[in-house]
Amino acid sequence: MTVQATEIATLAVEREAPHSLTDACIAQIRRAARICDADPSIVDVLEHTTSEITVHFPVRRDDGTITMLTGHRIQHNSVLGPYKGGIRFHPGVNLDEIRALAIWMTWKSAIVDIPFGGAKGGICIDPAAFSRPELERITRRFTFALNGNIGPDYDIPAPDVNTNAQVMAWIADTYLSLASPLDRNNSLHVVTGKPLESGGIVGRDKATGQGVVHCIQRWAEDHGLPLRGATFTVQGFGNVGSWSSRLLHELGAELLAAEDATGAICGSCIQPEELLAHTRRTGGIVDYPRSRAISHEQFLATPADIFIPAALENQITSETAELLNVRLVAEGANGPTTPDGDRVLEARGIDVIPDILCNAGGVIVSYFEWLQNKSHEAWTLERVEEGLRSRILGGYDRVVAAGRSHQVDARTAAYVVGLNRLAKVYEQRGIFP
Ligand code: NAD
Repeated sequence: MTVQATEIATLAVEREAPHSLTDACIAQIRRAARICDADPSIVDVLEHTTSEITVHFPVRRDDGTITMLTGHRIQHNSVLGPYKGGIRFHPGVNLDEIRALAIWMTWKSAIVDIPFGGAKGGICIDPAAFSRPELERITRRFTFALNGNIGPDYDIPAPDVNTNAQVMAWIADTYLSLASPLDRNNSLHVVTGKPLESGGIVGRDKATGQGVVHCIQRWAEDHGLPLRGATFTVQGFGNVGSWSSRLLHELGAELLAAEDATGAICGSCIQPEELLAHTRRTGGIVDYPRSRAISHEQFLATPADIFIPAALENQITSETAELLNVRLVAEGANGPTTPDGDRVLEARGIDVIPDILCNAGGVIVSYFEWLQNKSHEAWTLERVEEGLRSRILGGYDRVVAAGRSHQVDARTAAYVVGLNRLAKVYEQRGIFP
């Protein structure tokens, strides 16, 4: 284990809560291991993270005062390639959450056959409480604190909740400013999800939502549901939720209800493109003219064909799963369903496209951006779109095939596909020394 943070670095030894995200994730890995009869020592390796880095760093506020902030970067596994995973800004960021998200990144890349490992990071802040110059200083100081623990062929961050292309540009600029001048032009791929003009790739912005929609399209074909005229609801109207909604709407599906951090709305002719413009203007979806406000429970109970959770974890619990009135849950968010929620969905015959497959479009196109930067070229949108489609549907087909051959639910099947891929490499390479 290497921890080289230039600021205070501590290894996490916190005790897990009984129903932690990491516990749920490890329970799934063990279930998959029993099904595919995996070597217990390899499963043990995969249940552990490689490095857990916590940094505490000072940031100057606009009024001249200094505030101390805490950030994490957790690297789970790099047997398939460099560590890869997003960075989120959220007051709820904690080690258990980031650890589970890092493990899921390893699985995602394994399922869609991308040569990346898994990592995740975050800063425990409410970004709404900081000005833009403050957010820039926070991002740069966190990057400085992590220096040596991220790198273009070692650990590559990307956007996640409350971070975006601008934040990635600040990370890239800080990293490149600290690099030796000889390495600067070979290090742009230290982060993906950058703005187009700063080394980003066409199509990255919509990639996760596009991947969600490819999975929904394939599921709809397999289940005889024409998407023209189909109905859906979406929780979270940020990058993943708004892109999934716009792309599904383009295919003729109708958005009946949406929820974000400001509230929930429903209406019979919600236009996702218009709703996004409203959200950008006002800061949230509430008060969108073609809608009326509804409660959280009414939102969840809205009858529709498809529900896309695209916000945070632990939204579909044993209680809320009882309220859902849909045929399919397509998990745009990471970890939106608890293990008890899963059991209720299964008992009620509601299909799930699991997060580690459904939202893998982001890491797929991040991989293309990384390749593009390494070779100093620019990919066309056609090349990105075709690559995304074939990678995510390849993963989809592998998960469906594993589900059929082992007679298990889609989430378990996705864990089996990922575990088989990772275990194979460990069998071939062995454990050093
Ligand atoms: P984002 O910050 O762009 O959007 C988050 C949305 O969730 C916002 O609309 C916000 O208002 C809403 N939200 C927050 N708290 C909520 C609550 N309590 N109830 C309802 N809505 C709430 O984030 P994003 O990048 O779209 O990420 C959303 C999810 O997708 C996360 O789980 C993330 O890990 C996952 N994901 C994102 C990407 C990506 O490329 N951005 C890739 C894979 C997975």
